[in-house]
Amino acid sequence: MNKEEYIKREEGAMLHTYNRFPVVLEKGEGVYLYDTDGKKYLDFAAGIAVEALGYGNRKYNDALKDQIDKLMHTSNLYYNLPIMEAAEKILKVSKMDRVFFTNSGTEAIEGAIKAAKKYAYTRDGHTDHEIIAMNHSFHGRSLGALSVTGNKHYQEPFEPLLGGIRFADFNDLESVKAQLTDKTCAILFETVQGEGGIYPATQEFMDGIEKICKERDILLILDEIQCGMGRTGEMFAWQGYGVKPDIMTSAKALGCGVPVGAFLMTERIAEKSLKPGDHGTTYGGNPFVGAAVSTVLDIFEELNLPAHVKEISAYLEEKLDALVDKYDCLTQRRGVGLIQGVVTTKPVGEITSKALEEGLIIISAGSDVLRFVPPLVIEKEHVDEMIEKLDHTLAALSE
Ligand SMILES: *Cc1c(COP(=O)(O)O)cnc(C)c1O
Repeated sequence: MNKEEYIKREEGAMLHTYNRFPVVLEKGEGVYLYDTDGKKYLDFAAGIAVEALGYGNRKYNDALKDQIDKLMHTSNLYYNLPIMEAAEKILKVSKMDRVFFTNSGTEAIEGAIKAAKKYAYTRDGHTDHEIIAMNHSFHGRSLGALSVTGNKHYQEPFEPLLGGIRFADFNDLESVKAQLTDKTCAILFETVQGEGGIYPATQEFMDGIEKICKERDILLILDEIQCGMGRTGEMFAWQGYGVKPDIMTSAKALGCGVPVGAFLMTERIAEKSLKPGDHGTTYGGNPFVGAAVSTVLDIFEELNLPAHVKEISAYLEEKLDALVDKYDCLTQRRGVGLIQGVVTTKPVGEITSKALEEGLIIISAGSDVLRFVPPLVIEKEHVDEMIEKLDHTLAALSE
């Protein structure tokens, strides 16, 4: 069957919620992907910041195969060994005290919202608490997560959404203060805004928010779903700011391809938050994903990936900056570690499509930003190859 036939059949069967690139990806190896025509692509998207280890990591694949043969699933009515190991390991690297495993990022956000509301309810018995979230944020597509996603276009058809959500401007402390009320129970944002265009939180914003939260016993919830897991050069992006959230979320690279997310909290919150009967999941934290998370965290430690990210991202930044200097249609680079964005005046889809033809996978963030979220295991040679391909792409589009 040729590519056109595959695409036609899939389009004929699946709900049309994505405008996909016209490639059928078949296998991966290292930081490369191959389509059904055997064409090779350098992958600087990593399945949207998921495949931190690249493709075909032997240790990871073997651990999953072993676990499949042992036990896939039990339900959360029983204990299982892999998730116990995964839980201890993620607490160790996050310095949080309690974790709940979910099946996705959006569910981690749902859990974080519930945990914050329950904490506030336990404290004062009220049921009208508010959460402050940010404009241009992204937290997922389920109704709760959509309610805190500051994007009218995503929200409007599905209203009415969750009440009691107020929006402020990211990195603008005064705008957050303007939304504070005595009902505010939590402030939620991405440590580095991803979909919204790759905006890292400023140190000033982080410090200011932490102060507000401490003074008023408001919970700081940080969404680390995209920017966490080593991507910024810290295991979790907030660790680079000298602040600590009360609740944080993780997903994407947490399972490196196995669908898993998590929300984590400190003991102080856990004591007054979700109790038996308050929350649950059938799949969440089953032995299979436990083995995945546990092995991912082992490999992160063995390879010292955050340190590697710090080193390689300095090189990537330098090369991207040179490209921004070279092309008029590129106006700015921003980001931290291996979550980088380059602002362009050309239609961003034109660039990502042309890059794909050149054998380079990059994606957009918002309407005018090229997003670079490669596997964390990339080396300098891959940066060079990416820059060369992007240079070709831009040159071809400038003709
Ligand atoms: C991807 C993402 C989510 C949603 O995760 P899903 O696994 O797609 O549900 C939430 N928050 C951020 C910051 C994300 O990047």
